[in-house]
Amino acid sequence: MTSAAVCPRCLAELRPPDLWNSQYRCERHGEVSPYRAAVSSREQALHMLATTSTVPVWLPDPMPVHWYVSGVGWAGDERSGPRASALAAAGPCPLGGPAEMVLVAESPGIGLGARLAGIQGPDPEALPGAPEAKVEAAGHPTAMWPVAVPPDRAAFVGEARGVWLWLVLWPADAALILLEHLVLRDVRDAPEIGDRSFFGAVSEHLATGRFAAH
Ligand SMILES: [Zn+2]
Repeated sequence: MTSAAVCPRCLAELRPPDLWNSQYRCERHGEVSPYRAAVSSREQALHMLATTSTVPVWLPDPMPVHWYVSGVGWAGDERSGPRASALAAAGPCPLGGPAEMVLVAESPGIGLGARLAGIQGPDPEALPGAPEAKVEAAGHPTAMWPVAVPPDRAAFVGEARGVWLWLVLWPADAALILLEHLVLRDVRDAPEIGDRSFFGAVSEHLATGRFAAH
C-alpha cells in the first residue's frame, strides 16, 4: 500500500493531470512531482525504486549498529519515474534515545529534501564555507555542507551522482553519527542490499498523513 500523492514541498493534496494539465498541481506550488511513501510493503517499494528510479537510492551499508530501515518514499509521476528518493533509517542516538535519519537524492527543483530539512527550498542556497562532514557515496568521498535548520534536527547537503544528496537527522545530536564513517550505496547498483535489509518501526518523517486505496 502506498500513500496518496501529495506535494513534496508542503504535503498538500494535489490535483491530478487532466485534459487541460499534464502535470500534478499543488495550489500553492504549481506543477510538482507527486510525493508518495510506502505504507506497507516497504521492501517491495525499495525494490521498485531500485529498478525505476532516475536518481540514486541511498542506503547505509553497513547500517550503523542496531539501526534499521524505517521508511521508503519517492517523488515523480508515472511518466517521468521517481525523480527523488527518500530512505529513512532509525536506531539509537550516540548520546542515547531514539534517532532517525532520512537520506534524499533528488533532481533540482523538487523540494523534498528542503521540506524535510525544514527550510524554504526547493533547493539549498549557495553552500557557505567549508563542508563539515563527509560520507562515502557509491565509492566516492562526498563533502556535506551543514544547513541552518530548526533546532529539533540537523541537516547536511551535498552532491552525488549529479543530483542533491540531503541527510536530515532527528534529534540534532544524531549528527554525531557522521563522525563514524558513513558509507552509502546506491541500491540501483546492488538491489540485493535492499533485499537483505532489516525493516523496523515505520518512519514518522516520511509519512504523508494521507492514504490511497492501493
Ligand atoms: Zn505544495
